[in-house]
Amino acid sequence: MNVPAPITITPILVADLFVEGEPMPLYVHVINLPNARVLVDTGMTELHPFAAELHPRLYPLSEQDFDLAGIDIVVNTHLHADHCGGNHLFAGKPIYVQRRELDDARNKDGYTLREWVDAPGVRYVPVDGELDLLPGLRLVPAPGHSDGMQMVVVENGGRPVIVGGDVAVWPGEFDEPPTEGRLRVLALAPELVWLSHEHEPWRPRSD
Ligand SMILES: [Zn+2]
Repeated sequence: MNVPAPITITPILVADLFVEGEPMPLYVHVINLPNARVLVDTGMTELHPFAAELHPRLYPLSEQDFDLAGIDIVVNTHLHADHCGGNHLFAGKPIYVQRRELDDARNKDGYTLREWVDAPGVRYVPVDGELDLLPGLRLVPAPGHSDGMQMVVVENGGRPVIVGGDVAVWPGEFDEPPTEGRLRVLALAPELVWLSHEHEPWRPRSD
């Protein structure tokens, strides 16, 4: 019998931040598909005055037991500095980001660290709206936290699993005034939502 290989999602801690005195982890996520490995966001690899207010303690992918060369595709949920600081590790590989996000990162002052966004060799594939990236893996715009934010929706039979970046910085944000992105998450009725700054995935109530 031909049983399809499961799609797995693995969180990798790349930094501990302290935001207004509160500890806040920073994760990236590896999605293993039968024929591809996709990395969602890239964390940070160095300190910079721009990100000093996060008081980062860094565990860069390049200093972990992590197979950088084994990543086929990178997706940036958005281009805030703590999500794209490792993009340079993937120079030459396709990095999928919403065109809106890339335009804002390059043109809005103070939005992010441009030298991390456009590090040498970094090559973006700008996306306009939804994209079926691979079988079982879809990019979906999720504006709110940033205008050009996107999330990764994994369909593996059953309810979808979402790798949501900062669609909510913490699950309590789902109870706050809704953003378009968060409404889109809820409309998908996901089993799990992985967030960049949470140790455990959020499980929406299904009642
Ligand atoms: Zn952010």
